[in-house]
Amino acid sequence: MTAKKALLAGLALSTLGGVAQAADEVNIYSYRQEFLIKPLLEAFTEETGIKANVIFSKQGLLERLEHEGANSPADVILTSDVGPLHDAVERDLVAPIQSDLIDANVPDHYRSKEDKWVGLTARSRIIYASKERVQPGEIKSYEELADPKWKDRICTRSGKHSYNLSLIGSMIEHHSVEEAEQWLTAVKDNLARRPQGNDRSQVKAVMEGQCDLALGNSYYYGKMLTNDKEPEQIKWAKSVNLVFPNQDDRGAHMSISGAALAKHAPHPDAAIKLIEFLTSEKAQKMYAEVNYEFPVRPGIEWSSLLKEHMGEFKADDINLGDVVKHRAEASRLVDKVGFDN
Ligand code: FE
Repeated sequence: MTAKKALLAGLALSTLGGVAQAADEVNIYSYRQEFLIKPLLEAFTEETGIKANVIFSKQGLLERLEHEGANSPADVILTSDVGPLHDAVERDLVAPIQSDLIDANVPDHYRSKEDKWVGLTARSRIIYASKERVQPGEIKSYEELADPKWKDRICTRSGKHSYNLSLIGSMIEHHSVEEAEQWLTAVKDNLARRPQGNDRSQVKAVMEGQCDLALGNSYYYGKMLTNDKEPEQIKWAKSVNLVFPNQDDRGAHMSISGAALAKHAPHPDAAIKLIEFLTSEKAQKMYAEVNYEFPVRPGIEWSSLLKEHMGEFKADDINLGDVVKHRAEASRLVDKVGFDN
C-alpha cells in the first residue's frame, strides 16, 4: 500500500457512485454540507464516470491538508464561504485552476485574480427588517446601520464570523480603514444585544421583538420559509422584509461558496473536471434549487422561491479578492471597537 493510499484509507473517504475505475477518481475535502454536495457529486459521477470520494467536516480540513503536506490525497477543497478559500491561499495549500471553461462560466469578480479559487454559488448579506416596526425604504444601505435612529435595534452574529468579516472587508475596500472603524463603532452602539447565535437566530430575535433589523445571508430566508422540520422558522421568515442594501449605488454585498484545487492534488485533471462540472448549467441549477443560493453563472434560471422573494437586485460586482484581502484588518477592527463584547 502506498503512503497516499494508506492515508486515504485512514481518512475514511466515503465513495459516492462507484462506477469508475480506481484510476479515475477525485478526492474532495468539503466544508459544505453533505445534503447539498452529495447529489451534485452523484450527478458528476454519472456524467463523467469519475468516482468522487469525499470527507465532510465543519472544521479542520485546511489544518489536515497542511499536516498531510505533499502526501495529501485531497484534490479539491469545497468551502461555504470565500474566507476559508483565502486562508487556503495564505497557507500555500492551493494550485492555480487553469480552465478556459471555468473562466467562461464564472464572472471575473467571483474568481481569484490568480485563479487560486473560484466561486460556485453566490449570496448576499442582506438586512432582515421587521415588517411591524420598520417601514419599507426606511433603511437602504449598510452605511445607514450606523445611524443613531437604530440605537438598540440591530441584531447580528459575532463580528468575527467569516460572513461579517467579508462585509466589514467590503466597507474597508469601498471606504477606508478609518471610515470602516467609525462605521463599525456606530453599528456596535446600535446593537440590541451582544453578538451571538447564527444568522437565523437574529431573524428569530426580530420576530420576538428583541431587535428590528438583523444581518443575515440571503439563502437563510429560503431555508426558514420552507422549513417543514422546524415550522416555527417559517414564522421567523414571515416576520421580516428583505432589504438588499445599496441599490442606489454600488449594490448589495455578495459572497460565495467555492472551490480550490489542492496544491498536491494526486488527480488534478479529474479535479478540474469536477470544478468545471460544478459551474455547468446542470450543477448551477441544482445548487440554487437545494440551497436557495444564486447561481454564479449568468443566464441560469433562478429557483421559483428566489424569483418570488428576491426579485432582481443590484449586486456589488467588486472582485471578491479585493474584499477578502481585508479579513485580517477587519478582524482587528472587530477587536478594537469591542464589537463582540
Ligand atoms: Fe451559511
